[in-house]
Amino acid sequence: MARQLDSVTRDALVERVRFYRDLGLTEFYRRPVDLATEAAMETAAEESEPATIAAEQTTPVITTAETASTLEEQAIAPRKPISAPPLVTTAALAAADKTAALQLIRDDLGDCTRCALHKGRNKIVFADGDPNARLMFVGEGPGADEDAQGLPFVGRAGQLLNNMIAAMGLKREQVYIANVVKCRPPGNRTPEPDEANTCSPFLFRQIDVVRPQVLVALGATAATYLLGHRQPLAGLRGRVHAFRGMQLIVTYHPAFLLRDPRQKKEAWADLQIAMKELGLKAPKPASSS
Ligand code: SF4
Repeated sequence: MARQLDSVTRDALVERVRFYRDLGLTEFYRRPVDLATEAAMETAAEESEPATIAAEQTTPVITTAETASTLEEQAIAPRKPISAPPLVTTAALAAADKTAALQLIRDDLGDCTRCALHKGRNKIVFADGDPNARLMFVGEGPGADEDAQGLPFVGRAGQLLNNMIAAMGLKREQVYIANVVKCRPPGNRTPEPDEANTCSPFLFRQIDVVRPQVLVALGATAATYLLGHRQPLAGLRGRVHAFRGMQLIVTYHPAFLLRDPRQKKEAWADLQIAMKELGLKAPKPASSS
């Protein structure tokens, strides 16, 4: 007998099923148990897909994260190299020390007015997740939902990122997530170089405290300011970059994947590189018992 799912759970499951299907992982979500529920989920996903696509095509609102996707679609002009701050030697920080060290960085940031982005923000979006994470994601900047809640990746792109994390066999709470800039740019535009260069030293400090084994740069803006030079994503994806003693992998921004779901398989290939470096295997289908 099929379980009764509340609408929130059902929507989340439908989105999860759609994500796995887009990756081509059709066997992954086909649990032998409760086939009626699975069938209902797949049907719901099929039924809701045209509406979702239509909404993506017609919505006039462009989130900050979505502006990142324009970089994936455009040739990126060469620009002056961006200098990263020196590596801080915090490799041996204990768990409690990491939490304290991150709080110190947050305290240093304060009610920041170091760049013009402070004028339009509601909340500074510092980070979210586990200070001891082995995997860290870096995006571009907060969008409207993130600005309202003070947390990174909580809108539609965030839901997709959650699904990407789950496909890797992890929970969002097990990774650390931050952005290049911590305040929402007006009109959801891409951060200007002076804004990103003013804010990113705080990101580098966070990275040096967390010291994940693997960093994933989500989109061209994150890749640009982490690697210190601007280059089209095509030349950066699909391999491991050495980064301050860590491993950096570049993939598409989830907002770009919402706009072009065909690239999800490419993003999954990038995430599989990260999984290999972390020694992770994709979760197996749940037991029928
Ligand atoms: Fe400060 Fe960063 Fe916000 Fe600019 S984006 S005001 S540097 S916290």
